[in-house]
Amino acid sequence: MAAVDVVIHRIYTDDRWMTAAECKGLTHLFFPPPAERPQARDRREASAKAVCQSCHVNGQCREYARTHHEYGFWGGESEDERHAAGFRLIAPIGVRARNAS
Ligand code: SF4
Repeated sequence: MAAVDVVIHRIYTDDRWMTAAECKGLTHLFFPPPAERPQARDRREASAKAVCQSCHVNGQCREYARTHHEYGFWGGESEDERHAAGFRLIAPIGVRARNAS
């Protein structure tokens, strides 16, 4: 992304809500490690969901992730759930895992 694109993105994307995120320092719960097994993903995402339930910016976070087609766990919602809600991702991790087996 060019510097001008970053500036334009910052102008038109209000992401000030991120400063109130409850998940600061918990990246390991919100994004999968390489080759994560489905059972481990379920446990990790359950822990992430618990953090999101007490987060005051849950709605803004979910909307941001849906709008920007983010990967990972955002706003109490997994990639799989976001994909199923109609906010398509190219390769959501749950769909990928099911298709591989
Ligand atoms: S809703 Fe969840 S993912 Fe979003 S900022 Fe809050 S804790 Fe983080």
